[in-house]
This record gives sequence, structure tokens and C-alpha cells, in this order.
Amino acid sequence: MRHKRFNSFDFIIMITITGVICTVLFITTSGSEEVLHRKKRLTPQQKRDIRGAEIAGLTYNNYLSEEDTCRLKGLDQILVPRVPGTLGNRAVRDYLAGRLRDLQWSVEFDTFTQNTIIGQKEFSNVIGYSNPTAEKHVVITAHYDSKIYPPTPEGKEFVGAIDSAVPCAMILSMMDNLNKLLMKKQLKDPSRGIIVVFFDGEEAFKDWTSTDSIYGSRHLAQKWKSEGFFEKMELFVLLDLLGAKGPSFASSFSATEHHFKRMWQLETEIKNLDLFEAKDKMYFKEKGSIWGIEDDHKPFEARGYEHIVHLIAAPFPPQWHKMTDDAEHLDCPTIHNLMKIFQLWIAELFDLHKLINIENTLDRKSGSSSISNLSNWSTVMCIFLDVNSVSTKPGKKSNLYKIISLTTPIQTLCLTEVLVVVKTPQTLPLLCISRIRRLPVRRF
Ligand SMILES: [Zn+2]
Repeated sequence: MRHKRFNSFDFIIMITITGVICTVLFITTSGSEEVLHRKKRLTPQQKRDIRGAEIAGLTYNNYLSEEDTCRLKGLDQILVPRVPGTLGNRAVRDYLAGRLRDLQWSVEFDTFTQNTIIGQKEFSNVIGYSNPTAEKHVVITAHYDSKIYPPTPEGKEFVGAIDSAVPCAMILSMMDNLNKLLMKKQLKDPSRGIIVVFFDGEEAFKDWTSTDSIYGSRHLAQKWKSEGFFEKMELFVLLDLLGAKGPSFASSFSATEHHFKRMWQLETEIKNLDLFEAKDKMYFKEKGSIWGIEDDHKPFEARGYEHIVHLIAAPFPPQWHKMTDDAEHLDCPTIHNLMKIFQLWIAELFDLHKLINIENTLDRKSGSSSISNLSNWSTVMCIFLDVNSVSTKPGKKSNLYKIISLTTPIQTLCLTEVLVVVKTPQTLPLLCISRIRRLPVRRF
């Protein structure tokens, strides 16, 4: 038996093996350690700041339109009589499809002719896919047709603002706002996507019966059921009768009650950050349910689909099916507030907040990467504080996030270390400060 002595070759082998092991260990553990350290370093205030920044960004409307009613892009294009089979219906259908195509989504029409109580009519559902090949889709829907009414003697026509021009415009705006993050998400995880459906023929031509109503959704539910597509539907969300002041929402399906509770929580968070446009009573409740409302979800429910989130104002707003359901009777702050809740909730369904990377911006000692990290994210990159509120209530800064519209690219507004932008109520001057790092205020 011989005691083997190490030679230089053995030594090189050992060093190489040790190196490989260390590298593997480093690669597998460094990510989680970084997260741990980061979490340790964050104070409760910083965590609140991060959450505030997430909410401020994810609820922001990047595409406000000065020309449209309630500054909701495209609302006025939809606010026309659009009874199935009419030119108005056709124009709105094309407009909705165009807006979805602008997002680079694939769009198809589910067009069919059906005998109705007033004769043969053509209907066409508009369907947009953010990710046509996904295994699972969150389906977000509203109806775009308007109820048939004769004009008043003065020539006023029924345009169905809450019913359902506003829900259609809200969906388009929310998708505009979330699309960049959604596309980024789909690159990382191509298994999920969003489908937007604008149903035609929801309204009855005469009185609501099982055969004279929801023509479009009955057709699509039957089609998707026969194609086995229900398996691919993660959630079916229906917006209806939105735009009047003070709506209340409650769940009508036990399978989706938790989504209503979550929206109640999100509403509370947004409210506490002072991000709502006007103070209002709570729209969502922690608990409670409503039953028996007939709408476009019914054909899906009737075929055994249960994951339905019916976002309808209940009780119905007073202008429902009246000539007063028009632009003048909308409550714009309510529309904007609701969009913030829904937009944040949809973003959360897809974990979009994880793509914003606000946390990283707090960790750099110099803070020099703050804006470059956030700049991937369109124009929503800073948290905006109302200067007056900051100066009068310094102790409550974390509750004072307020987004003020930003038209100039952020890089030209702020130097790199700036995380928080402050805008005075008089619009100018713009001040940039870093609240997290307590850097000196900069004036531009
Ligand atoms: Zn209606």
C-alpha cells in the first residue's frame, strides 16, 4: 500500500472543481440573497413608498383625451346610436376593432345573421386577442350596441352612455395603459393573455325575453362551448352600466367572490393614497352579493361556466334606459376612479407590478439609476406629490401621492437621482426631489 502524494496536476484539478462548485453555488443563491438583503434593508416607510409608487403608476391614465367626454379617449366616437344592423353600429364596431389593432392585438369578428322579433338582423361581436396562442385567457367584455328608441320630438337620439359606451371606452383605455407591461409579461410567460370582447345585440328590440336579448353573447357562448374554449377561459369579466355617480358592486358568483373583496381592498389602498379624483362613498364592499341580474354573462353561466366577475352598478343608475343616459349625465370622476380600481386589479391578475422594478431604484446608494430603471415604463415613471399638501402636512407624506399629467419625457424633467417629481398646483415650476433618499430639492 502506498500513500499517494499530491502532485501539481491533482492540485489544478482540485482548484478547478472548487471553482466550479463555488460558481454554481453563487449562481443559485445570489438571486435569493439579493432579495433577502433588499427586504432587510427596506424600512416600513420605504415599503409603503414602493407600494404607493406601484399603485400610482398602475392606476395612471396615459391616454387622456382633451376632446372627448370625460377625457376618455374615443368615448365620443362610441356615443352615437348603434342599434344592430345600422350604419352607426357598423362605424362603432370598426372603431373598436381599430383601437384593438392599434395595440398590435389580433382582431376577429363573430358575425352572424339571426331572425329577431323585428325581422332578420346582422350582429357582429368584436374579439381582440392580446396573445392568441395563450393557453389561458382573462376575457374582458362589454356590449357596444345601444337600445333602439325613437328620437324625441326635438330630435334627440338615445346613445346609451352608461349602457354601455362608457364601459367600452373604459376597457379600451385600460388596455392602452397596460398594454406595454402586458406585452412584456407575455414575452416572459406566453401561457396567458387577455381577450377583449365587445358584444353586439345585448339589448332587446322590444321587451327583454330569453329570445329577444343578448344575441351576441348567446352566439359566442354557444360557439366557444362547442369549440371547447371554456377550458381556456381563466376568468370572464363583464362591465355594464358604468358612468353614473356612486355605483355599488357586489359579487354574484361564489367562485369569484374573492375578486370583489380584492377590489374592495384595492379601492381602499387607492383612496388612502389620495389618488381618487373626488371623494365618494366606497364602490365595493368587503362582503355581500347580488343575484338575478340578466346580462351577457348568462349564456356562459347557462353552459356551466362559473368564473364570472360581473361589474355592474346595482342598483341600476337612475338614467338606465332613459333618454337621459347621455354624455351630460355622466360623472367623470366616478369613471376615472373606477378605471383606477379595475386597471390595478387587472394589472395584479398578471403580476404586472413586478415588471416595474421600483424597489431597485431605492437600493442604489447614489440613486443614479432611479430614472433609467423606471424609464422603460412609458411616461409613468415618477410619483407626483402635491406641493401644498407636502408643506401643510409634512407628517403625512406617504398618503399624498398624486399623479399630475406629464407630457414631457421624464428624462428631460429630472436629473438621474430624482425619484419623486413634485408639481405645484399652479403647474410651474416643477420641482424634483427624492423623498426616499432625502436628496435636496431641485428646481427646474
Ligand atoms: Zn341596456
